[in-house]
Amino acid sequence: MRRLLLALPFALLPLAIAHAAEEKEHASLGAHEHGVAQLDIVLDGKALEFELRSPSMNIVGFEHPASTDADKTKVAEARELLLKSQALFNLPLAAKCAVLAQKLESPLFGDKPDADDHDDDHDDHAKGEGEEHHHEHSEIHAHYQFVCDTPSALKKLDLTQLFKTFPATHKIQVQLIAPSGQQGVEATPENATLKF
Ligand SMILES: [Zn+2]
Repeated sequence: MRRLLLALPFALLPLAIAHAAEEKEHASLGAHEHGVAQLDIVLDGKALEFELRSPSMNIVGFEHPASTDADKTKVAEARELLLKSQALFNLPLAAKCAVLAQKLESPLFGDKPDADDHDDDHDDHAKGEGEEHHHEHSEIHAHYQFVCDTPSALKKLDLTQLFKTFPATHKIQVQLIAPSGQQGVEATPENATLKF
């Protein structure tokens, strides 16, 4: 695996604001929906940042901690696929984007969420579903930072490869912040291209 610069802080302000807004939205909408993922994209000068948040179901086909060898293999494969971000996001070569940092987070990857996050997740699920049940949900979050030497070449983003790589993903709710402004787009396998 490529060496990752995990120590770099992810401190892009616009993204933080977008998150705050979206977290409020999530709280009111409740639990995550299988088949649906969220993708925040920020293009700021040469800095291009992606944050993908997906139910684990969309990516590995289950949400419980991997215990069997088959489950562990699936998790390891998913990790590899998620780390191949150049392929996943199909960035135009002309934009000359290089990976600066990428980071994956999920209980399935052995991350221990801090106590606050854990409680929040439970609250969200309980609120959203309106009934008591003990189905175990988990998510996979992937955070990518690129530096693009020719950001003007970023005209469109094609998410086809992301849908193909994780075919249980049927819809991606995209929030894009770019020099052209902010837009919210629902991408689907049939309509996977969006404009910067
Ligand atoms: Zn779930």
